[in-house]
Amino acid sequence: MDASQLKQQYVNFFVDRGHLEIPSASLIPENDSTTLFISAGMHSLVPFLLGQKHPSGTRLVDVQPCIRTSDIDEVGDAFHHTFFEMLGNWSLGDYFKKESISYSFEFLTRILKINPNHIHVTCFTGDTDAPKDDQSAQIWQKLGIPSNRIHFLPKANNWWGPAGATGPCGPDTEIFIDTQPQLSSVDFVAGCRQGRYVEVWNNVFMQFNKTSQATFKLLKKPNVDTGMGVERTVAVLNGFTDDYLTDIWQPIIKSIETATKTSYQDESAQIPIRIIADHIRAAVFILSEGVEPSNKEAGYVLRRLIRRTVRQAKLLGVNINICKLVGLSVLDNQANYAGIYPQLAKNKKFILDSLDLEENKFRRTLDKGLRQIAKLIKAGNLTGITASSIYQSFGFPLEIIQEEAKKANYLLKSDFVKKFDKSMQEHKQLSKTLSAGKFKSGLADNSEIITKYHTATHLFHSALRQVLGDHIHQAGSNITQDRLRFDFTHPDQLTKDQIVQIEEIVNQYVDKKLPVSRQEMVYQQAIDSGALAFFAGKYPDTVSVYTIGKLDNPVSKEICTGPHVANTADIGHIDILKQESVGSGKRRLYAKLRN
Ligand code: ATP
Ligand code: MG
Repeated sequence: MDASQLKQQYVNFFVDRGHLEIPSASLIPENDSTTLFISAGMHSLVPFLLGQKHPSGTRLVDVQPCIRTSDIDEVGDAFHHTFFEMLGNWSLGDYFKKESISYSFEFLTRILKINPNHIHVTCFTGDTDAPKDDQSAQIWQKLGIPSNRIHFLPKANNWWGPAGATGPCGPDTEIFIDTQPQLSSVDFVAGCRQGRYVEVWNNVFMQFNKTSQATFKLLKKPNVDTGMGVERTVAVLNGFTDDYLTDIWQPIIKSIETATKTSYQDESAQIPIRIIADHIRAAVFILSEGVEPSNKEAGYVLRRLIRRTVRQAKLLGVNINICKLVGLSVLDNQANYAGIYPQLAKNKKFILDSLDLEENKFRRTLDKGLRQIAKLIKAGNLTGITASSIYQSFGFPLEIIQEEAKKANYLLKSDFVKKFDKSMQEHKQLSKTLSAGKFKSGLADNSEIITKYHTATHLFHSALRQVLGDHIHQAGSNITQDRLRFDFTHPDQLTKDQIVQIEEIVNQYVDKKLPVSRQEMVYQQAIDSGALAFFAGKYPDTVSVYTIGKLDNPVSKEICTGPHVANTADIGHIDILKQESVGSGKRRLYAKLRN
């Protein structure tokens, strides 16, 4: 079974069991500035897992592309990727453990025909916060998994959440496949790096609410959130203990073998080839979202992926550009990527040109930088501070410098990263992103401030259209605890007067204490009724429409997933801080809640 068959079978299986398929979300989170990328299918469903009603119902299924920057260090092994596709099914207060585990078991054994004797599962062992998850274990046993293949583990392995400091959380049960069942001993190790037991699926049971007193209260309507990795599952189904041997990766691997004149069979080439394949596939997807390599946020992750690829290619002895060639093998993969994600074909030229440009930039300084690092290592002087100057002069991301040290068996001091950060702080914005912890995968907690700012973006959208005209369309937004940022289409700089007017309109809306209401509508009906849609063609059949003011004569009506305040008075007054130009035909406003 190949990847596209697996995805289709998965969606069909859950649709047959009353789930509605929802479209995948963009890789870049819309309403969450605490993290740079979507790292799990549940990410964009957080508001609904927290109790908001989902317009598509209580049973959902999807295929979600994910990026886990926290796994970049693992890349090189057989089954961790920076970018991967996650299959997910959800129950929003609908079914719970029994159905969830039974569905998983049935899908694995009946549809995928995995031998039930090769399945191992883990369950939560219990602690002072919450009891042992005997229920899940008993359900597994009833399905025929004997107790010696049910392993109990602590919170670190078998617990999820809450997303913020408080909120829904609970135990999970992870499903592993034994890829070497011929070995007689069991000695199960969860997440075993040798790859005998591969975790393919995780079912999270959100049954508790963590309160501000740090107690765990049972939820009346618990949710189920699951995630299954496409790459790993396809590998297991085809009898491989290495994801890179599957059809998903082989065209990419072949392009690297050709470009570098190496062979994946050659053990010394294997890890660099995996890293190159992984990093370029992830880079192609990040670029397809319109992100460019830079020293900030998502752009910096992209830069690191491309530069690390160039370094790995050099280790394979290659001195010609390869990123574009490998990128092409991802873009030309119709069955797995190009045919499914239209943003790839649409941005093909931008993606390939950007890969090449970034590679050229780094190649210009690569050799000099490597020589400089070697010198510092020889002199025993590779510190956070000298590493920061290597970054500034030669564009070497931190982990490449760390890798060079490791290769030379040079022990970096324990404060190396801290010193590097501090030294960077004096020069670049980059460290801000680092210290905000945004390179970790995580979730926003929909705090009160974020909710206020989010509703405020709708007010700005409306005020901008009033003052500047109906050609104004939202082109993006980004919210932090400190401010909102709003991008929109408009060719000219705004005058001082216009800015004052926009600010006044927004604050009048706040003074008018307008109600914010939510309705569910069929997408086309919503558009016909005058609701604004931010993305073209990325919505499910039924959508939530947020109306501000009177339903028959609103000041704003938008298709959106929230979160929102109940009344504009809850927002409070707002000041516009500044405006900027963001490329052709687009402008950006920054605004802040008045203290
Ligand atoms: P691991 O312990 O192997 O890193 P995880 O516990 O971090 O996995 P989850 O967060 O439970 O994984 O994600 C759900 C599923 O997504 C996993 O069961 C796995 O199939 C897949 N998955 C997670 N991380 C990766 C990755 N970096 N590359 C490929 N697939 C992944
Ligand atoms: Mg992990």
